[in-house]
Amino acid sequence: MTIATAGLHGRSDMNTGGSLISHRLLPLIQRVVPEHLRGDVRLMSRTENLLVAMALSTLVIPGYAVFYQWHGHSVNATFCLLACIPLFTSPVLLRVTGRLGLAREVFVAGIFGLLLALTYELDGIMAPTVIWLAVCPLIATAAGGRMPGYIWSAISMSAVAGIYACDRLGLIPPTTFGDIRLLQAVSTVSFVTIVACFLMVYERITAMAIVRLDQALVKINELAIRDELTGAFNRRELLRLAERERQRAARSGAGFCLCLIDIDHFKEINDRHGHAAGDLALKQVVRQVQGEIRRIDMFGRYGGEEFLLLLVDAEMEDARVLVERVRQSIEGMMLPGSMAGERLTVSIGIVRYRMPEAIDQTVSRADAALYHAKHTGRNRVVLGDEPERWEAKARA
Ligand code: GH3
Ligand code: MG
Ligand code: MG
Repeated sequence: MTIATAGLHGRSDMNTGGSLISHRLLPLIQRVVPEHLRGDVRLMSRTENLLVAMALSTLVIPGYAVFYQWHGHSVNATFCLLACIPLFTSPVLLRVTGRLGLAREVFVAGIFGLLLALTYELDGIMAPTVIWLAVCPLIATAAGGRMPGYIWSAISMSAVAGIYACDRLGLIPPTTFGDIRLLQAVSTVSFVTIVACFLMVYERITAMAIVRLDQALVKINELAIRDELTGAFNRRELLRLAERERQRAARSGAGFCLCLIDIDHFKEINDRHGHAAGDLALKQVVRQVQGEIRRIDMFGRYGGEEFLLLLVDAEMEDARVLVERVRQSIEGMMLPGSMAGERLTVSIGIVRYRMPEAIDQTVSRADAALYHAKHTGRNRVVLGDEPERWEAKARA
């Protein structure tokens, strides 16, 4: 399922602070995310995190190249420029192969290699670059989850131990960098700034992922309660709503009426005009009924060409008047296309809920009333107690 991200940035919670990130950086970054990763909220967030890390390092690493060159350390400046190769290759890899893991590993390995080379040139374990090794597990976790995070933590910690050992063994030459204190200050400030920026964007990306999940949940819930063809409530939802009304009636004594509406001779409509025309007619009936009922009433497709209407807080007489209006409006409906000029009619059975019966008993009584309507000429409304009176009369 592809989850649309449009509209996310307009939310007020997204606007508070960090609007530069939400409105400028993130929409840009989202465009780079490969299509197949967008449908999965978790993969989408991880890819966005990786792209943010790439964007931040695009600012920092060339900046450091200039800084080292400016301070006469062309070796480190060259290392920084060389590191730009994996840095710029990894987003291309991501776009071309669509493989987040590959792009992430190339990128993190590039940063790791650069840090080792710089550390070698800057006096080993005392180098200001050692602390930067922390960004490897940070990026790996944000862009890949726990396992890459564990692996890069282990690699970074082993690297620190290795640097210390090499230092002790005298394998690292003294640095030729002049103002190491200035480098320490610049490195610390930029490290804190970059990590803080990354965590801020990470938080925003996570918040956006939650919004996306919320939207997906709303969509799924909506799909679960609606009939696909007509958009009206489906049978499951109608029965749930009816059960809710039943419980309300048991608590408060307020009653409700339940109506079954069935299109007359619908099979003939399909046979004469085709299934597609039949579908159109079903949609039109739904629109027509929805236009006649009150906002509090609940209406949906019970199955096939049969609909269920729940009239809340309604006495039988109120229900009869409303449902008679529905019947007449369907009878007077203009049918589209090939069916133009034809008349569509419905038969309706109405019952009022009787405590303490179960909902399926109420539906059965409505069905009996509908059956009676069908067998006494169709295109009519039959009240629930009518078949009973009719049977009593027949028995007498
Ligand atoms: P009656 O007046 O006795 O209700 O007759 P009827 O023809 O309406 O009833 P019947 O149960 O014989 O046929 C119902 C028809 O409704 C048959 C079926 O093909 C059609 N139908 C059910 N669901 C759909 C649908 O989603 N789309 C279309 N076009 N037709 C449907
Ligand atoms: Mg029918
Ligand atoms: Mg039917």
